[in-house]
Amino acid sequence: MRRIRFSSSLAVLLLGLVPVALAEGLPDLGESAQGDLSPRMEKKIGEATMREIRLREPSYVDDPEITGYLNGLGHRLAVQIEGEHPDFRFFALRDPTLNAFAMPGGYIGVHTALIAAAQSESELASVLAHEISHVTQHHLARMVAKQNQGQLAAMLAMAAAVLAARNNPDVAIGAAAAGQAAGIQNQLNYSRDFEREADRMGLQLLEKAGFDIRDMASFFERLQKFGRLYENNAPGYLRTHPLTTERIADMGNRIQLRPYKQVPDSLDFTLVRARIRVEEGSAEDVVSDFETRLKDRKFASEPATRYGLARAYLRAKNPDAAAVQIAELRRLKVSSPMVETLAAELQAAKGDTAGAARLLRAAAARYPSDRAVAYALVDALLASRRADEALKFVAADQVGHTTDFRMRDLQAKAYAMQGKQFRQHWAQGESYALQGQTLSAIEQLQLAQKAPDGDFYDRSQVDARLRELKALRAEEARQENAP
Ligand SMILES: [Zn+2]
Repeated sequence: MRRIRFSSSLAVLLLGLVPVALAEGLPDLGESAQGDLSPRMEKKIGEATMREIRLREPSYVDDPEITGYLNGLGHRLAVQIEGEHPDFRFFALRDPTLNAFAMPGGYIGVHTALIAAAQSESELASVLAHEISHVTQHHLARMVAKQNQGQLAAMLAMAAAVLAARNNPDVAIGAAAAGQAAGIQNQLNYSRDFEREADRMGLQLLEKAGFDIRDMASFFERLQKFGRLYENNAPGYLRTHPLTTERIADMGNRIQLRPYKQVPDSLDFTLVRARIRVEEGSAEDVVSDFETRLKDRKFASEPATRYGLARAYLRAKNPDAAAVQIAELRRLKVSSPMVETLAAELQAAKGDTAGAARLLRAAAARYPSDRAVAYALVDALLASRRADEALKFVAADQVGHTTDFRMRDLQAKAYAMQGKQFRQHWAQGESYALQGQTLSAIEQLQLAQKAPDGDFYDRSQVDARLRELKALRAEEARQENAP
């Protein structure tokens, strides 16, 4: 049910425009690498689609720890790419189907079930490497016909169709009733040539980044086995990335001659998987599942199992039991920012927000580049009504993170707590601007202009910024209405 809403807003575009765009057929692999869609357009489409997902897709995982982990892993692969490429952004969707997908502009989504199904970090990396390669090889762009370049609506439709092509029974049924979209969906599935190319490039990335390349073949083979159980209703990944025995054999051949290399999983990989598992099913079931694993010592990682159990106890509102597991993690000398945010959450759950802030202060000094810790610290300071301190931290943090809209949201919250309306709306406006929501940004800056506080210097800055945003909005409107 939940996804009909998201998709139907774009379905009209999807049904109306995509067949025209695709009717021209796909350019063959020999054509210019850039394809038919300019990188600038790709970026725009990607940003717009990502915004839609963040705002309207209920399965979007708004968790800086999971997002941070995926981006760290993806970055290890992306730095190995030769030549120009977009900045890759990775995100997770809470979804029980095995899928991952690339959107224009370098945005790559991964379903939580796929992360959970990966038995090693190299397996997960192999899927990311495959998706990255679809982007660097401009496979999506090459699916769009030339004359549609510049038509933002058509581009958005394509992005919507890519999203709809995720394993999504709701959309599939609705679309089949409309009589057309099934065909579109099939056409959006990557061709075998694209798949082979993404496998080949993906393997190279994986190897250069130091992962175990054998895991790509083993993971894809396992995905194929899952697929057989579903027959015609194969999980999304297999539908959008047709996985043939031939592909797996092809990978096997490439891998065969390479020396065996065992790559240990990172601690964060095991913690992130535990974190995902904790949110699935009822709190009671999750607690008993982790308790059993620990009791029977049926686990790949004791730290991750204790971490998961502690989180499960917190979810089940049993902070005392969680505290015992966190103490065990300390005893095992498990060193990760995820353990620190967990310990702080425990303090907060006990009502000790000052204690939580103290833990996070230390964690922020120890892990200065960790975004989840930074957000948690500001949250904890606000929860203990210390807006001044929070703002001081945000100001220092902003120097290195000028495009971080999440921090801008927290800044707006802190100003609101201080009763500083002018600065609250200004910060909120800048957050919207960073998210590409120009109209909402303008609205907030206009509210700032109407606020009773704010000095002359700040006001003239906001006036100038407002002119800038209005010009930007006019340009956006012009592009949206372009023929
Ligand atoms: Zn693929």
